[in-house]
Order: sequence, then C-alpha cells, then structure tokens
Amino acid sequence: MSDINNIPYKIYLSESELPKYWYNVRADMKNKPAPLLNPGTLQPMTAAELSGVFCEELVKQELDNDTREYPIPQEIQDFYKMYRPSPLVRAYCLEKKLGTPAKIYYKFEGNNTSGSHKLNSAIAQAYYAKQQGLKGVTTETGAGQWGTALSMACSYFELDCKVYMVKVSYEQKPFRREVMRTYGASVVPSPSDTTAVGRKILEQFPGTTGSLGCAISEAVEVAVSNPGYRYVLGSVLNQVLLHQSVIGVETKIAMDKYGIKPDVIIGCAGGGSNLGGLISPFMGEKLRGEADYQFIAVEPASCPSLTRGKYAYDFCDTGMVCPMAKMYTLGSGFIPAPNHAGGLRYHGMSSILSQLYDDGYMEARAVEQTKVFEAAEEFARVEGILPAPESSHAIRVAIDEALKCKETGEAKTILFGLTGTGYFDMVAYEKYHDGLMSDYIPTDAELQKGFDALPKV
Ligand SMILES: *Cc1c(COP(=O)(O)O)cnc(C)c1O
Repeated sequence: MSDINNIPYKIYLSESELPKYWYNVRADMKNKPAPLLNPGTLQPMTAAELSGVFCEELVKQELDNDTREYPIPQEIQDFYKMYRPSPLVRAYCLEKKLGTPAKIYYKFEGNNTSGSHKLNSAIAQAYYAKQQGLKGVTTETGAGQWGTALSMACSYFELDCKVYMVKVSYEQKPFRREVMRTYGASVVPSPSDTTAVGRKILEQFPGTTGSLGCAISEAVEVAVSNPGYRYVLGSVLNQVLLHQSVIGVETKIAMDKYGIKPDVIIGCAGGGSNLGGLISPFMGEKLRGEADYQFIAVEPASCPSLTRGKYAYDFCDTGMVCPMAKMYTLGSGFIPAPNHAGGLRYHGMSSILSQLYDDGYMEARAVEQTKVFEAAEEFARVEGILPAPESSHAIRVAIDEALKCKETGEAKTILFGLTGTGYFDMVAYEKYHDGLMSDYIPTDAELQKGFDALPKV
C-alpha cells in the first residue's frame, strides 16, 4: 500500500539513521519553565538539594535550560536498538474507513515488552544511576506501565528496583505486577507499613486503596533514607521530556526523509512526557519561527488539568515531601473519578508543557472515556493494533480532526502519538462492551476544593 508519493505503509529508519541526541526544547523557549521550589524555604531548589533525591547527571539535565542537544550515551543507543526505531505508520485503512482527505500518521511506541514509551526514559535513568555507582532506585507506579519499564531497565544494568504500586492496581492488575517481578523488581502495595508516610496515611485513612501522590511520597522516603538509592520518576520532570524527545527526533528524521510535513500534531497528556517528547523538535521550529504547526494535548474529561486547572505552584505528591512545581494543576489533593486511563490520572502537568500552553503555543482538549473507547475500537478494527486507553485519547481527537477535514475538504496531514498497547486493560474494554462505562465530569465546586488547597506561594 502506498500513495502517489510512494509513502510506505510503515516508515522504518535504518540503525545508522537513529537519533544520536536528545533535543532540549527549553533551549528555544523565551519564557523558561518555572523552577522547582523547596517547599520549606520557597527558594528554587539547588543542584545540591536535588541530588539527595535524584542522580547527579539527571539533576544537571533537570536544571539545564540552555543546552540544545544532549548526545545519547552509546550504551543507551545500544539498548534503544533492541526496540527502536519505532514504526511511523500511515493509517491508510483508517483514512479509507473515515472517508477523509486527511493524511493520518501515527508513531507507535508499544513495540516493547513494557508496552509503552516509558522505556525510553527508564533506560536513561537506570544508566545514570549505574554510572553513579548506586545500588538501586525506588519509584511509584499507578497503572503499572512505568514500573514495568523501569524493572526492565534496572535488570539490564543490574540495579535493584523497588516499586511502590498503588494498592488498587496491585490488586486489580496482578499480571503487571508479575511482569515486574519477572524482571527482578520488588513490588509493594501502597500505602504500606514499610514507610513512615505510608503508616501515617494508613492510620488516617484505613482501608484506602491508595493514590499516585501517596505512592510517590513512600518511594521518595525510601530513597532518601537508604544509602546508595535514589528516586526516579516516569513523567512530568524536564529530564523525562528530554529523554522522550527521542520519539520526536526519530519522527522528524523519518518525515523529512519522505518530505512529509505535519499540519496538526496530537498526543495524550498525563504528566506530559510522550506529548512533550513527540512535539519537541517541531515545537523548536515553531519557537524559532522556522515553521508552524498546530499542537493539541488531549486529556480525560475526568482529570482536566490543562483545560480546567489553575497555573500555579503546587505539590507533586500527597505527602508534600517533593519539591513544588509551577504547572497547570487540579491540586495535589484532587482524586479523579475512577477512569480506565490510569496513566492520565495525575493532578498536574509538566512545567514545560504548562508554560508552552500558557504562552499559547499549544491547545488542549478534554474527552469523555466512552468516546475514547469508541475511537479505540474503530482504530483497532481497521489498523490492527489494540491501543492503550491512554493512547486512545489521541486517537479520538485525530479522528475528530480527520472528520472535520472531510467536511471542509482540506487534505491536512495529521500526526499523533500512539503510546502503547492495551493488553493489560481488557477489564476496561470489557466494561465498555458491557455498557458499564460511565463518563464522570467533575463539577466546578469539586474542582474548587482542589484549588482551595493549593499552597499560597
Ligand atoms: C504513562 C502513559 C501515558 C501518559 O504519560 P505521559 O507522561 O503524559 O506521556 C500515556 N500512554 C501510555 C501508554 C502510558 O503508559
């Protein structure tokens, strides 16, 4: 299958064409993302303070607003070769089904055992921990994708990996847990009695099934109280967007090779890492005035941090032990209604994307989950891939944009990020098929409670 320009169904790069550097979009931003603050002093976190929690090289990357390109260390390039390049697919079948003149492309990141893009940053973070001579790392996981990616990365570099998994997922997703244990990680349901913050939360809320914010607090406590350990995070942070830029750089190399220029670039946004990574090199061109693109972030209507949140300093975790970040947020106490896109349930958003959104460089849309699963199924039936619920948010908006083109007759080129596979989410698909899925949208009054609890900075 190909069109008149001979664009293949799947565009793969050869090994020698793979990205050799990560691109740091902060270097081209006029308004830099706001710095992390020390919650005690309200002063910007220094490198020395941050290196108690994070690896030294990662602290450097976190604070670096100026270096445009970071060479990808050879060891990481070698690991990337096990599952990269990821295919850039022309969705000919979907276009035909929709009857749209639009050209649709997606970059598929689900082609590795962890099943999502998270491995791109997990391997980088494990590499720098190993370089520093650490024994191991701690982290939290919600739906389980990040924990799985990190356990794979740690086993590759022979590092110990302690994962605090939100209790409800630990119980509902036993297979995710077993994949992590297969790669040698220890997995603890959170909140647990293994940490002071966990014991406090259990005392206050006996029977709680946990939250991401709470699991972060536990993982950070274990990292700072055990010599030879550091904490790692799978999204939100600047360093994670930097590593995920491999998605965008690779996409751009492939598109340039065939002379394709996207008009619209779409991605789902949880903490913002896949979207930030995909759009980075394109956003760089827009920021430098070399090209123009329309960027759309897609979030669940049940957790609408960009479309309905406040741009303010907030805590990143429930226990308030982490630095504060300025971001679009619903408040660290906000607990979204149960939604099957576990990876999109975080209360805040990457500081980089928050700043770009606030400056008007990017749009955002919120979509309801039944509409998301409708799009997921439509996509699966024609394109073959069974998408993750998170990724399906991007599919929803890509289809909506393609249908708009059908009305206007415009042949726009649409690119979206297909972040992962949905094999561990079949309970969610089951709910959808049985008509048991609901679309909860928080009221203004409910959101106000979260805003009232924002720290006064
Ligand atoms: C974690 C996850 C996301 C959301 O995280 P971002 O940091 O916003 O990219 C999206 N899709 C999948 C498959 C995920 O696992």
